[in-house]
Amino acid sequence: MASLTTPGGSDEYRLPTTVKPTHYDVTIKTDLENHTFEGSVQIDLNVKKPTSRIVLNTSDLDLGKASLYSDTLKAEQVLGEQTFDKTSERVAYNLGSTLPAGSKASLKVYFKGELTGSMMGYYKSTYEKDGKKKYYALTQFEPTAARRAFPCWDEPLLKATFAITLISRVDTTNLSNMPAVSEQVITPNYLASQGDSGNKALFSGLRDGEWKITKFETTPPMSSYIVAFANGHFEYLEDSVVLPLSGKTLPLRIYTTAEHIHQAQFALDVKKAVLPLYEKVFDVGYPLPKLDTLVASDFDAGAMENWGLITGRTNAFLLDPKKADLQAKKQIAATQSHEVAHMWFGNITTMEWWNYLYLNEGFATLVSAKRTTCHIANANLVFPEWKVDSKFISDHLDRALNLDAKPSSHAIEVDCPDANHINQIFDGLSYSKAASVLRMLSNYVGEDRFLKGVSIYLKNKLYGNSVTTDLWNGISQATGIDVPKVMDNWVQKIGFPVLTVTETSDGIHVRQDRFLETGKGQGTDNETIWNVPLRILTVDASGKAVIDSEALLSEREQFLKLDTSKPYKLNAGTTGVYRVLYEPKTVARIAEEAAKDNSVFSLNDRMGLVYDTVSLSKAGLADISSALTLIDILGKNEKEYLLWAGIGDNLSALVSTWWENQLVVDQLNALRRTLFAPLVKQLGYEYSTNDSADTTMLRTLAISQAAAARDPDVIKELQSRFEHYMKTGDDSRIPADLQRVTYSTVVRNGGRAEYDAIVAIHDKPKTPTARVAAIVAMGATHDPQLLQETFEFIKTKSRDQDIIYYFRGLSVNIKMRRALVEYFKNQYETLVKRFGGNFTMQSLVSSSFNFLSTEKDLKETEAFFKDKDNSKYYLALAQSLDSIRARIQFLQRSTTDLEVWLKNWQGGSKL
Ligand SMILES: [Zn+2]
Repeated sequence: MASLTTPGGSDEYRLPTTVKPTHYDVTIKTDLENHTFEGSVQIDLNVKKPTSRIVLNTSDLDLGKASLYSDTLKAEQVLGEQTFDKTSERVAYNLGSTLPAGSKASLKVYFKGELTGSMMGYYKSTYEKDGKKKYYALTQFEPTAARRAFPCWDEPLLKATFAITLISRVDTTNLSNMPAVSEQVITPNYLASQGDSGNKALFSGLRDGEWKITKFETTPPMSSYIVAFANGHFEYLEDSVVLPLSGKTLPLRIYTTAEHIHQAQFALDVKKAVLPLYEKVFDVGYPLPKLDTLVASDFDAGAMENWGLITGRTNAFLLDPKKADLQAKKQIAATQSHEVAHMWFGNITTMEWWNYLYLNEGFATLVSAKRTTCHIANANLVFPEWKVDSKFISDHLDRALNLDAKPSSHAIEVDCPDANHINQIFDGLSYSKAASVLRMLSNYVGEDRFLKGVSIYLKNKLYGNSVTTDLWNGISQATGIDVPKVMDNWVQKIGFPVLTVTETSDGIHVRQDRFLETGKGQGTDNETIWNVPLRILTVDASGKAVIDSEALLSEREQFLKLDTSKPYKLNAGTTGVYRVLYEPKTVARIAEEAAKDNSVFSLNDRMGLVYDTVSLSKAGLADISSALTLIDILGKNEKEYLLWAGIGDNLSALVSTWWENQLVVDQLNALRRTLFAPLVKQLGYEYSTNDSADTTMLRTLAISQAAAARDPDVIKELQSRFEHYMKTGDDSRIPADLQRVTYSTVVRNGGRAEYDAIVAIHDKPKTPTARVAAIVAMGATHDPQLLQETFEFIKTKSRDQDIIYYFRGLSVNIKMRRALVEYFKNQYETLVKRFGGNFTMQSLVSSSFNFLSTEKDLKETEAFFKDKDNSKYYLALAQSLDSIRARIQFLQRSTTDLEVWLKNWQGGSKL
């Protein structure tokens, strides 16, 4: 097994600090016909220490002439001697003389590059127009790919101002972070006006009148990873917003290629709604003169927060207002809000190094979830209904706790010694756990004071870089609380605690231990003591809920005085980053109270209970039977969509774990049908604009769960609706919200005709959501021949950015799980070649191996990867191996308990 191939220590990986860049003049000529670009970069440098060597980052560029002008030497020298280090992606220029400390210098380098489909650096994206394949070019730099577009000091701490100039064919549009200051067709007169200096080399061979030059305003100081530019045939929608702090009107645009522009309005509306809200909350003005969004057909991540020019994939931003399902709408609102939040967290104030990535991502995740709850003036954006703080529990908190319960987890603040590691920390811990920890702190100190502290932090670090203590200082200043004392272990240590609650004669005893997915941590795995906000909910004399939000468990264990004869619960509102283990009798009492109408326990409390009990049973700390009993009790009287979604998630996860035990799968499906089929009967299949968001989502969920649990009536109904579409081409009987479940259900239960119809939808989708739904459905087939066709499709037709959806669809198809593993193994070399450098490879490893569950699987997976270079995906692999180990134990420990519970339940009155 090959481990890291790059230099070991972070000091070695970081660039020398002898010089610091202050300003870049970047000129890029884009040739979309020949799929190439070339350019020059002139970088102003402050010399910090005497040096005769200049070292900066570059990768996959063909470097041409380089020269250096020094203000003390008063002369420009051509740099002849250059050495490359491919592994650390650097070029070093040896100078003829030593630059003195305190002097200034200016480095100019010419370069050429290829526009490839790599989705990194400056790359090309494809689309079709009038049956012809067309191209445009755009950038994706985070975390370490700016160096693929132009040589630079590619580290977040090395902020500088950027003046971008783009040369392109006249009929195309050029975009960058800032607005254009000038745009001019290149003519002989223009060239003559440039004199001898300038970039003559870039203009050679340009035909008179066919090219233009676009110059953009200079940016404020910023990190290289949020620089962006693009060139192509784009159209746009435009709006504007009055900024609350400055009173200025800010233009807002969204750009796409022509065929998509009619689907861009909603994302533009969201941007317009959240931007002024953030400005008010953080009390820091949005500093750029515009904020554009560019939607791309080929994009590796979901979206990217380039300052002034957000970019992202089609299904992250586009929807057809007439064919939009609520889930897609929520996703687009969350993504657009997340990226806009980065304009403050990340762009105005940037982490010093990637080990503090969570300061960007945790905040953007939390703030976008929180702020979309606010009542937004635009009446079409009914966000308060979405209950996003409760949704946070399933989307982020549970995801974070599941990932952080693995032995292979890492602390939120994590060493990032090289580019390979940096690429792998864009994970659930940097996003969801960081956001969960910040949410816990916000609830502990109070949201208003928390936001005041955040504002202080941002103001102290305007256009600067930050580390964790800067944030803690801001919040300490706003609250008077010793924030580092409370928070340090949450961000610096791996893992989180499980609180074991035992009742005593006059109260409760609470003890904390590290929670692992295989049980409580032992020995060195159980050394951390966290400061745990307990948020104890009790009931007062009048029966009303009272929450003690100040109680903090700072020791290993503690007694608390409490009347245990009345309802009580820890972690009120499920804001804490921990699980709570009660005695079985207490769980039963809490469940009974939680199931009542007008219970003192909120939706958030009930969700926390469901996710906690299933997770505790998986770890062997509770019985799976008690988790199912809780679900059964809550299911009797539950009205909230999100709680039902939690029940659905957890039951699906059990089916996915016992996937090779047909009897258990059948019985769990029977339980799912019993819970969800009555909801389908009650809510029907028709969607109305008068439905609440909850009703809409609950209907979709119930139909999806019932169909997955093989309810014959639901399957028949979806099939008949699809059949109508196949016969007539009229898809009006398939509501947008039922697209996903309908496509997958007809493929799973159908044959060639349905499969081909889905492929046709994929080839000519009406919306990006429909395309993704079709891809996932192509993985749902139970027919081996059609499965081979899906694999062939991946190989020959799939866009690189879409391959994760094929894998996701296949990984939830338990009949074809092993075939997917075989496919991955057989195609390994091809996949590495195709996806080695970007984020996708990590997802492919997880989707293929995460769900296996036997000793044999574990051994074979370990053996397969033993001699592979896993430097680009070792975290994903370690997490997958941990998942397999945990499943093996869960199956060994709980199969009998589960079988007995299901048998008794079936023997009861329900069937
Ligand atoms: Zn982000």
